Amino acid sequence: MRVLLILPTAFVVLIGGQAWPAASQDAELRVDVTHRARSIQPGEVVRVTATFSRPVSAVRAAVFDRTVAFQPIGDRRTWEGLVGIDLDVDVREHALSIAGTAPDGATARTQYPLPIVTKAFATRRLTVAPEYVTPPDDVVERIQREAARTTKLFNTPTPVAHWRGGFLRPVPGEATSAFGRRSVFNGQARSPHSGADFRAGEGTPVQAPNSGTVVLAEDLYFSGNCVIIDHGLGLYSFFAHLSRIGVAEGDRVDPGDTIGDVGATGRVTGPHLHWTVRLNTARVDPLSLMAVLSDGDR
Ligand SMILES: [Zn+2]
Repeated sequence: MRVLLILPTAFVVLIGGQAWPAASQDAELRVDVTHRARSIQPGEVVRVTATFSRPVSAVRAAVFDRTVAFQPIGDRRTWEGLVGIDLDVDVREHALSIAGTAPDGATARTQYPLPIVTKAFATRRLTVAPEYVTPPDDVVERIQREAARTTKLFNTPTPVAHWRGGFLRPVPGEATSAFGRRSVFNGQARSPHSGADFRAGEGTPVQAPNSGTVVLAEDLYFSGNCVIIDHGLGLYSFFAHLSRIGVAEGDRVDPGDTIGDVGATGRVTGPHLHWTVRLNTARVDPLSLMAVLSDGDR
């Protein structure tokens, strides 16, 4: 009995040992990963490029417990994805897991390290009118309803990319108030500044920075007249404090289309444009997005 059991086993191993190396070389799929970013820090966008040794039919990627959408470029050997590092990320080394599958079923997997480094954001202390810090009781429900609505939008990625190429500056002016700045109003810490503010006079037209669909166009308590553009794949632009909204929910916009005018609506002290970018829910600096996706890239 013992001999009969051992013999077939040895036979299988021998066949496998002869046949496998040649087949393995044909089927082997390799992946090479690079990235482009201003830095690997909270609030930054990292553009990741995965290049496979031959075309693949699907790429799965994830980091921070969330899926990262990768899109094929050209012959499907090269794929790209955008990683957003949230302001409140756990500062340590994370890894982006990437797995590509070829049409014959061969797979290549890698863990691409994202060693996140602490970023020091400025803090400002201001004394302001009490209603800026503690909203009146009769608007609390409205504020909660509006926050729930925008959070739900940002948490719901559209499965296709609407954007192409680089992101345009929405107004000609310089960005003034930095992304991530902490404010302490009347001794109370506020949530960090989740966007970039651009210097611009009342009535300056605001350009869509890239293509997308308008998913919100209305007056919100804190942000005033707002427009949110869904650029696809979990990438959203949120413009606030407009004097006039020039688009409606459901409108498709192209880069450079006017979506409204700069104003001072909502809880602000003067006219400027506030632009928030959300990428896969992460709060990221719009200037970082403009830096990694330049015009003429695609
Ligand atoms: Zn702002």
